[in-house]
Amino acid sequence: MQIFQEDAAIPRGRKSKMEYPCPECGSKVAVPDDCMEEETLECPECAVELQIISKSPLSLVLYEEAEK
Ligand SMILES: [Zn+2]
Repeated sequence: MQIFQEDAAIPRGRKSKMEYPCPECGSKVAVPDDCMEEETLECPECAVELQIISKSPLSLVLYEEAEK
C-alpha cells in the first residue's frame, strides 16, 4: 500500500497550491505558485526530475538530461 504524505517537500518560502502526480511513481509533487515553465522540480518520493512544460493546464513531464 502506498502512503501519500500531505505536506511532503514544499520548499520553505514558496507557497504551493498546486500539485501534480509524478508520472514515475504517482506521488503528488508540490508545484510552487511562482514556478516558471521549463523549471524542473524533484519528486520527493522517487527523486526523478520533472520539468514543468505548461502551467495552464498544469503539465509536468519526466525531465531527461541531454544525451551524451
Ligand atoms: Zn516520483
